[in-house]
Amino acid sequence: MAFRDSIAALVDLVLPADCAGCGAFEAPWCPACAVRLGTPSWPALAGGPQVLAAGRYTGPLRSAVLRYKERGRRDLAGPLAAVLRPLLEELAGETHALTWLVPAPSRPSAARARGGDHVARLCRSLASGRDDVRVIPALRLTRLARDSVGLDAGQRAANLSGRVRLRPGRLPPPGAAVVLVDDVVTTGATLRACRAALNEAGVPAEVALVLCDATRRHP
Ligand SMILES: [Zn+2]
Repeated sequence: MAFRDSIAALVDLVLPADCAGCGAFEAPWCPACAVRLGTPSWPALAGGPQVLAAGRYTGPLRSAVLRYKERGRRDLAGPLAAVLRPLLEELAGETHALTWLVPAPSRPSAARARGGDHVARLCRSLASGRDDVRVIPALRLTRLARDSVGLDAGQRAANLSGRVRLRPGRLPPPGAAVVLVDDVVTTGATLRACRAALNEAGVPAEVALVLCDATRRHP
């Protein structure tokens, strides 16, 4: 293991001392944030895949994702993974088979700026201590993909089309139960691009697990 990787592995083990949502001195969530994390749901995505979200993109869950992703709080991987754990049970619980988590890839420049791929770290935390869950970073984003902030649904799809690629030699085994993982779902374009890349290699990936549902709701 390279020196950088061993440092990253150590950082993964650090536990936060404050509330993941608001920074109050109570870990992993203060009581006020704990009751406002939201309820899991299956937001409907036109064109799929099926996605199970821990909560809406609001309140303490959104703050925690932003602190984790944009403010260098890598130690929040643990509390955020803990939010996903019961949802993973719901997805995988019935099958008793090995589940392979495939993280939605970040742009290489964004991952470097964040000190590593934040979704992959979330997956590692989710799988840690379990022998029925594995993480396989099967996908990568080519350098051409732009940051999706501010793009509409069509632009997001065009931005991602063909830019999610397989990493050579990093495929889940044939017949594996695959769960795509991402932090936020907005239009589903990222998840569909991930699914398409895996499908091309003959790997079905029809289910996804995300922290935050930021889809538009039509009343
Ligand atoms: Zn709090």
